[in-house]
Amino acid sequence: MNKSDIQAQAIARAQQFVPRGVSSGHRVGWTQVFDRTAGSYVWDMEGNRYIDYLNAWGPIVLGHCDERVSEAVSRAIRTCDVTGVGPQLYEADVAEIVCGAMPSADKVAFCSSGTDATMHAAHIARAATGRRKLLKFHGSYHGWNDQLAVGSSRVDFSPDAPLNTPNGAGLHPGSVADVVVVEWNDHAGLKAAFAEFGPELAAAFSEPYVHSYGCVPAEPGFLELLRDLCTAEGTILVFDEVKTGFRAALGGYQSVIGVTPDLTAFGKAIANGFSVAGIAGIESLMGHLGAYDGKKATLDGTYNASPYGMAASLATLRVLGDDETIPHLYAMGERLRAGLREAIAAAGVPACVAGLGSEYVVYFREQLPKNFKEAMDVDGDLFARYHAGLLSRGVLEPSFPTGDRRMNAAVTAEDIDYTIEAATASLAEL
Ligand code: PLP
Repeated sequence: MNKSDIQAQAIARAQQFVPRGVSSGHRVGWTQVFDRTAGSYVWDMEGNRYIDYLNAWGPIVLGHCDERVSEAVSRAIRTCDVTGVGPQLYEADVAEIVCGAMPSADKVAFCSSGTDATMHAAHIARAATGRRKLLKFHGSYHGWNDQLAVGSSRVDFSPDAPLNTPNGAGLHPGSVADVVVVEWNDHAGLKAAFAEFGPELAAAFSEPYVHSYGCVPAEPGFLELLRDLCTAEGTILVFDEVKTGFRAALGGYQSVIGVTPDLTAFGKAIANGFSVAGIAGIESLMGHLGAYDGKKATLDGTYNASPYGMAASLATLRVLGDDETIPHLYAMGERLRAGLREAIAAAGVPACVAGLGSEYVVYFREQLPKNFKEAMDVDGDLFARYHAGLLSRGVLEPSFPTGDRRMNAAVTAEDIDYTIEAATASLAEL
């Protein structure tokens, strides 16, 4: 078989048996199929190597196939697999680390995905308050549960669509009706939403630093306003730290900004690629998880806190808690952002760079966006050509303009400098 046919054939075979050929939306449309990963690199089936700035959309934080994690998981597999009875192997150890690091965490419960985590957070908030409505921010993605899969569709985005447009077909219309969507960084809009719906709001969901459409921080005072409004109205503040948790800081971004939510949904980076997620919260709220008495919210799951996931989490968190790993991620992120800014200035291209620690984005627009609508308003053609230029030079990034990029801790200064060269050359071609 011709070398370049190998990947096309692999994709065609997948399409024969899997709708779209993939089991998650953003995997569509690539001509590469990756079958080997190590450290900061991935290789496609033709043997081409890429520096990975996708990192599976967040989980790979230490590096691909990290030996310390792989060893811990294989030890767990040989010791005790999932039993479905009582605490699972290493469950309390992981929970103890999260409780020690995360300001909002008196107790932690585990599940398997970020979608599970935000769904359970909504259930706890409704059980605790007896209210139905949820508030969220336009463009922020919280997974696919019916409660929250509203107002963050990228594909069908149109500036005139109502903010609470469902993200896809098949979502329960009643759920949409119970979600109040506010523009990110809109102080007046947030106050108005609380003035209108405050006593009905069970919870307000927020990424403390938005990665759903790149990298968009809260303006000064915005999260503090949200915290104050929630406290005043008895609304549960939920931070979705599925992307920021353990990557921006071991204790989540909340530990950096000093605004403490009542509940936190986390996932991704906790387990360096194994499917672990969870909900952390203050004691009084986590007490609303309970038995089947109709008064408590329930959290059940065959694979919740599986020993493989817990072993991976324990190994990952121990490394992330050392003195070097997260500072290295921040240093590499800063180095890359500085180099990209220089390259953009040299090329005279209308683009700007944003980011936090290991996360970054290049927006093809003059000014940094402050909300979803602005972030979507970029030059898609320039982006597509830039992306193709990077890919042809062995740099892998998300394939849509608002996709946040990130490095893992195996990345070296040489990788970063090579990436800046690749970006410089790709920008010069635009
Ligand atoms: N919340 C945020 C902020 C996310 O970025 C994601 C996934 O990208 C989710 C929730 C859903 O997580 P999962 O894909 O693990 O269901």
